[in-house]
Amino acid sequence: MQAVPSEFLAINRKERANKPFIELELRPPKERVCDFKPVIIPFDAETAMAQASRCIHCPDPAPCMQGCPTHNDIPSAMWLIEQGRFKEAAMIYHKTSSLPEICGRVCPHEQLCEGACVLNHDDQPVLTGELEVFVLDWEREHDPYVPEIAPDTGKKVAVIGAGPAGLACADQLRQRGHAVTIFDAKPAPGGLLTYGIPNFKLDKEVVFRRWKDLEAMGVEFVGNTYIGKDKTIDDLFAEGFDAVFIGVGTGIDAKMEVEGEDLPGVYEATEYLIRANVAPDYLPEELKGKPLEVEGKRVVVIGGGDTAADCLRSSVRMKAAEVTCIYRRTEAEMPGGAKDRNMAREEGAEYQFLTQPVRFIAGEDGKLSGVECVKMKLGEPGPDGRRRPKPIEGSNFVIPADIAVLAIGYWPDPTIGKTTPDLETHKWGLIKVVDPETGRTTREGVFAGGDAVTGPDLVVTAMVGGRKAAWAIDEYLRSKS
Ligand SMILES: Cc1cc2nc3c(=O)[nH]c(=O)nc-3n(C[C@H](O)[C@H](O)[C@H](O)COP(=O)(O)OP(=O)(O)OC[C@H]3O[C@@H](n4cnc5c(N)ncnc54)[C@H](O)[C@@H]3O)c2cc1C
Repeated sequence: MQAVPSEFLAINRKERANKPFIELELRPPKERVCDFKPVIIPFDAETAMAQASRCIHCPDPAPCMQGCPTHNDIPSAMWLIEQGRFKEAAMIYHKTSSLPEICGRVCPHEQLCEGACVLNHDDQPVLTGELEVFVLDWEREHDPYVPEIAPDTGKKVAVIGAGPAGLACADQLRQRGHAVTIFDAKPAPGGLLTYGIPNFKLDKEVVFRRWKDLEAMGVEFVGNTYIGKDKTIDDLFAEGFDAVFIGVGTGIDAKMEVEGEDLPGVYEATEYLIRANVAPDYLPEELKGKPLEVEGKRVVVIGGGDTAADCLRSSVRMKAAEVTCIYRRTEAEMPGGAKDRNMAREEGAEYQFLTQPVRFIAGEDGKLSGVECVKMKLGEPGPDGRRRPKPIEGSNFVIPADIAVLAIGYWPDPTIGKTTPDLETHKWGLIKVVDPETGRTTREGVFAGGDAVTGPDLVVTAMVGGRKAAWAIDEYLRSKS
């Protein structure tokens, strides 16, 4: 439901729809490749108000609200921003989101709220994502948000994984008066917000200040603790936790299973992005003291998703001599968003389509010197409707390379499934939930959400999974009292 119903607004839809489109301002490619700072130039108050005034206030439920997985009441926020009522607009987002300043920055808006905007018919939607960032940053500077915390319930919940799902679950549980401790295998909180998404898309400062908010609410973080190895879910119950939330994502990089994959110079995307983007203090122990040396090197990134674009763009910023993406289908089948791909191109990355690596070749020094590839053609569609790539016999060729990065997907980590009695998992290791609306699993008192349940998806969907599970855990704990 919209807080400011459109029928009460004195608006002229036609006049609004005819207002000129205000484009997002980006730092020029030549400037932005010199650092890892954010690429988008934030709106000032005047631009934000003008941008919000383009909203034509579709009848409830507005398409943008339906396109948003957390159903932010975007039209009401637009109405308030237009009038300069920024604090009230920020409060609208807090009602439905635990990570609004983060989702505003990293959501693929063109596929969600902005994609659903009726003004998008000619690619000129209201830029709702950037407006969300504007009001949340304004609020933090002028009148920081302090949520109300219910009186202590005496119940303790263990959250496993400090990614978007775990953070959102902790936020909602703490607001309902439960004590929350988050355990994570990594030294710092954030999950892929810290150890995946590059700084030029999401400054770590934004993640850490959101973490500080949760810490101020009383949420505890215990890092460097791998549940299933350092302790089990049974141990957590024995320690006195009343319920457990699993939000461990899908952190295992997929392998290519081809010769030479373990040569020095061949990296998994996760390690490459962590080393490129995470400050030494927050590096996991095993990656400390091993700086990435990319300057002057030829980098080949394998894969067609957003992770591949992140690796390409990180390589350019680390002053690689050549940066090439290879993908086995055509550009039309690429799963990654066009926005990131276009930015990668603007920044100097090249793309080679219908190309598949078959072998990583070592030079005389034993390190990677080239990637042997084969040319592909598209065959009949597979069960997913996408045309299957087939190798063209005898088309092998070598791309000289000093570094190759595998960005070909992620698998769930089976550890928790294997070490928790009565917790069922799917064939590939994803956690089975009995009811997707609550995240309830087959083990009593254990709930799950985020990528660990859905498979690799988005920050916003993981956050929604964490919030819904928190509401169900709250109900479960109250039913036990
Ligand atoms: C490179 C990259 C870029 C991305 N860019 C975007 C983007 O721009 N926009 C977007 O919407 N989405 C993006 N995504 C997807 C998004 O980051 C994920 O969908 C989201 O982070 C999933 O959240 P989660 O909380 O389920 O898991 P995660 O963020 O993966 O967090 C899981 C946490 O659990 C911890 N953990 C795992 N196993 C254990 C264990 N046994 N014990 C203790 N801790 C454990 C991990 O250390 C991690 O901190 C990107 C993903 C990648 C890989």
